Amino acid sequence: MNNIRVAVAGPRGRMGSEAVKMIMGDETMQLVCGIDPKYDGENIGEVLGLPGLSVPFVPDVRQALDTHMPDVLVDFTTPQVVKENMVAAIERGVRPVVGTTGFTPSDIEELDKLCHLHNVGAIIAPNFAIGAVLMMKFAREAAKYMPDVEIIEQHHDRKLDAPSGTAVKTAEMIQEARNERRQGHPEEEETIEGARGAYYNGFRIHSVRLPGLVAHQEVIFGAVGQTLTIRHDSINRESFMPGVNLAIKKVMDYKGLLYGLENVMV
Ligand code: NAP
Repeated sequence: MNNIRVAVAGPRGRMGSEAVKMIMGDETMQLVCGIDPKYDGENIGEVLGLPGLSVPFVPDVRQALDTHMPDVLVDFTTPQVVKENMVAAIERGVRPVVGTTGFTPSDIEELDKLCHLHNVGAIIAPNFAIGAVLMMKFAREAAKYMPDVEIIEQHHDRKLDAPSGTAVKTAEMIQEARNERRQGHPEEEETIEGARGAYYNGFRIHSVRLPGLVAHQEVIFGAVGQTLTIRHDSINRESFMPGVNLAIKKVMDYKGLLYGLENVMV
């Protein structure tokens, strides 16, 4: 296979730096630049302490794409900049592989249309951990038979958005398998606001933020006399990289926007 030229937006971040290492370790991929508004021209290898890597930082996404002409843009930045990065890439025929969370359904629709307009593939995955995707699939299956459910997601306290993209995606997949119905006592009242968590089509999503956590989620189903808990834990950020690797390879042969790693793992 020819080398896939990859640019990484957010290469100094917790996820972006893991992506840089993963790309370095795959002989079918070549890292061509990193995009970071705080650095201009410095060597990523030196800044990240990765001997053998000699690739520049570029401060602006358009400049990076025009100068280094990657095939794929991997984005692990922030919800504030990711959409602009994706639009810049798609308009130039560069395929985005995005782990940054915080997209709305209308963002997804708009970006899918843009992909089709420019005949480009893109992948957004709220969770690149293969075990997390299996958790979502198992939750959708369980919801057919045990429709009463709540989701508890737990993340480190540097996370900007809540609930997590994984929790929202899990909720959407559960919703596909059950009829909408409001759970809990019809007269329940919160004596402290927010105690029952976020309301999503009749059930609740709870977000925990604490130092020491990485990314964890429990989906708890309840029925008469029994509960079922499906749990996934990412204990480090390397856990996401096999999914990112798979998405970079898959996006090379795809047109339109794929949302969710489950659509890549088919
Ligand atoms: P992080 O450590 O804060 O990294 C974000 C990086 O982006 C930082 O280095 C930041 O620089 C940089 N940045 C900010 N603005 C930028 C811009 N305009 N262009 C390029 N880089 C920019 O965060 P993280 O933990 O890696 O997470 C990044 C995103 O991935 C979040 O949305 C998170 O929820 C998501 N995430 C997804 C998955 C998944 O599997 N899909 C897993 C974990 C996390 P400064 O620090 O200097 O601002």
